[in-house]
Amino acid sequence: MPRPLVFVLVDGLSRRGALAMPGLAALVARGEAFRWSVEVAEPTWSRPNYATLVSGLSPARHGITRNEQRQPLDGETLFDTLRQHGLRTAVAGYHWWNELVGPRVDGAWYYVADDTPDVVVLDQAERLFADIHPHFLLVHLMSVDYAGHREGGYSLAYQEAAQRLDGHLFPFVSAWQERYPHGAVIIGADHGMAERGHGGMSADERVVYYFAVMKPMPGRWPGSQEGVRAFLEALILDC
Ligand SMILES: [Zn+2]
Repeated sequence: MPRPLVFVLVDGLSRRGALAMPGLAALVARGEAFRWSVEVAEPTWSRPNYATLVSGLSPARHGITRNEQRQPLDGETLFDTLRQHGLRTAVAGYHWWNELVGPRVDGAWYYVADDTPDVVVLDQAERLFADIHPHFLLVHLMSVDYAGHREGGYSLAYQEAAQRLDGHLFPFVSAWQERYPHGAVIIGADHGMAERGHGGMSADERVVYYFAVMKPMPGRWPGSQEGVRAFLEALILDC
């Protein structure tokens, strides 16, 4: 029996931002969530890291090294592997996901505006999991990254965006857990955020937190973005 998994990708969530999320911190404190550090791929841009997340390859190997590279991701991805196992996948995320892996996904809803509210995306994600029962659902939220680009990664506005998301995340996570008591929720980021955005190699941009909300907790977890694909695949398939 596969384990249904939702991966909540919070774009541009730095460790500083993650620590500003009280609901998530409470889950960790109660032992209901596990938190660990992941080193993201270089360069610390979004599109190369999206591609690394679902291919397991570094940008040098999958070939997508710039945000401007609008092309499908070559080679096998997590979506393809799951499909080969007869499993269903879905994405509620920014339209770059459609460019990367669109035809390989069973159900999808994409948005174009960077300031699309998280609640709108989470509503669409809930609709997808109610309609098509995906074994893997990728939910990709942009509000934190948007605030970081406008106001900076050390700003109050950035912290507030993370806090607001924290409030919206829990009804969503609870709904998923209610529907799939043996399911898993992984929350992670494509890259962090420094005072003036991202793209560089400072620790605030390069090292992010990931969270696992599941029982039992995973025995191993990846230390790098390249390891996330195999980690998600094993959680879904090996249980
Ligand atoms: Zn990003």
